[in-house]
Amino acid sequence: MFRISSLDDVFNAVPPHYDDGRVQQQVLLSREFSQLFPETIYGGRQVLWWCPRCATPWWQADHRLFVLRLSSQQAAYIGHQLHAPMRQDGTFHELPMRICPDCLGAVCVIDTYPGRLGTQILWHALPDAASTSSEPLTTDPGIVTTTDRRSSARDTFPPAFLFAMAEQTPHEGIWSLAQMGNAMLTMQTDLPGELDAVAWQLRWVERTLPPPRADECEPLGASHLARLAYLVEPMPGMGWQGFLWQPPETLSSALFTRHPLILLHAALLPQQEPTTIFHLYTLWQRLLPRVFEAAQWEEPHA
Ligand SMILES: [Zn+2]
Repeated sequence: MFRISSLDDVFNAVPPHYDDGRVQQQVLLSREFSQLFPETIYGGRQVLWWCPRCATPWWQADHRLFVLRLSSQQAAYIGHQLHAPMRQDGTFHELPMRICPDCLGAVCVIDTYPGRLGTQILWHALPDAASTSSEPLTTDPGIVTTTDRRSSARDTFPPAFLFAMAEQTPHEGIWSLAQMGNAMLTMQTDLPGELDAVAWQLRWVERTLPPPRADECEPLGASHLARLAYLVEPMPGMGWQGFLWQPPETLSSALFTRHPLILLHAALLPQQEPTTIFHLYTLWQRLLPRVFEAAQWEEPHA
């Protein structure tokens, strides 16, 4: 037997712990797309996406586990589990769109920091995926043996990139950049409940955020790099490098936040080639259109 504390809880469907950022996110997600988005034991969520390029549904079973090009029977089975709205014939009314890793040539995980303005994007190129991407990319600079290859690796895209931005809340105001970096790499992230808001933040990064000044940045420390290596393990000869960056607050006022904004750029690069924040900034600006492509965010029309 179980007891219902109040009928209001049942009919208004207000989750009992609405203050919890994760619960709020669940409500936002359900509003944005009609699916259950169950959490997995690893902290990710299950999602049934639709890839408009190969015109098949694909299943994100966890942060790192994807089942691509589902048959209609598989999709119907998973869709039923996730309560995705289906027609009588087993096809779907509408699934959230995301280019599948196979068609994109990379895994692109777009997350938010629930409860504050901020987003975290992990781009991880699939091996030998260059042929499917819309721009020529070298996805295997792990085999960098000659001087020639080494110099050309600078002009190509690294196999993994992590970009994060987050507001520094008032109680974090006394934290150093390094402490904020630790928080940004360890705070719980979730699927964006409001995709428009994330797209808008990234458009700001693409169009408004000027190149950094050296005195606004500092390199990532050992604890940051260890966390990144946990996310994507470097292949031999490669290593994570990156920077924390606090741009002037006057810039972030366009995002309607009164809190300082902290950014983190990191990439998997040849260990022998120390990078600069300017290089990572440039790489990220080049990668952003592909993130928009992955999420199928159209250019806003004037
Ligand atoms: Zn596809």
